[in-house]
Amino acid sequence: MKNKLIGGRLAADLDQQVLKVLRGLDFPEPPLHLRDVRALLKLDLRYYSSTDDSALRETINRMKVAGKQILERPSLILDAVRTAQLKALWLPDHRRILIDQDEHELKHRWNEGHEIGHSLAPWHRLYLFGDNAETLLPTCHEKLENEANYTCGQLLFLGDRFTDEAREMDSMLETVRTLSKEFGNTITSTLWRFVERGRPGVPMVGIVSQHPHRPEPDFDPAHPCRYCVESPEFKQRFGSVTELQLFELVLSYCTRARGGPLGNAEVLLRDRNGDRHEFAFESFSNTHQVLTLGVYRKPAHKVVSVL
Ligand SMILES: [Zn+2]
Repeated sequence: MKNKLIGGRLAADLDQQVLKVLRGLDFPEPPLHLRDVRALLKLDLRYYSSTDDSALRETINRMKVAGKQILERPSLILDAVRTAQLKALWLPDHRRILIDQDEHELKHRWNEGHEIGHSLAPWHRLYLFGDNAETLLPTCHEKLENEANYTCGQLLFLGDRFTDEAREMDSMLETVRTLSKEFGNTITSTLWRFVERGRPGVPMVGIVSQHPHRPEPDFDPAHPCRYCVESPEFKQRFGSVTELQLFELVLSYCTRARGGPLGNAEVLLRDRNGDRHEFAFESFSNTHQVLTLGVYRKPAHKVVSVL
């Protein structure tokens, strides 16, 4: 699934909300500590799990005390959380974030940032958000969820700080790994950010997929890329290149190695006018998934036929 960019007035509004937080924290050095953000915004964080739902029950009791019980039987909320497989919730009336503890720890940070994102957008205050694995994906195209993910990215990468640092570094996966450690975010979310914001003006594409030579049982050949992230310039000029075509390119040069670097190649992509351009592609496997970065180089030489 391809990313959907947020721009214009909406992005400016959300950027302002994040800027207020960063200013309130005196523009902290990376990595951003979310406990500081919670303290500033007076947000309360609780965890629940399939074996310990006391935080959920306590929240429901509070809702009853506040006279806000919307369901006759509180257990229905518990059932709803389980049936809908919610990973995180935002309860605006209580300024409370609930996170599913059973979720992989690496995802907690993004999930919490996503709920803080809901809390920062004034027009989200009318809703109670229950998020499942789909809505927490940065590829979620549902409007309010896309906004929460955008705000989360702005927050976890400290607004413009990420771009300021990234543009001084080489456009390669090694840079993505370095920035992932520095900002304390997953390598996937850092690749995402790097492609969208790391090189303003440069067409870039990031792909997160299964290993092309080691497909899992749930591999879908019709949708081979888990995420396909396009920079604004890539979307504009090369957005007609399909995910299938990109995956074929990755397949063409990747080695069979289980982990580590899988190779790199100069590849050709056609722009919307049909002209060919050179890109530098490289791929890396963290043994769970394969990350690929493709960066624009130059127009391909036209072949001149000599009679
Ligand atoms: Zn959400």
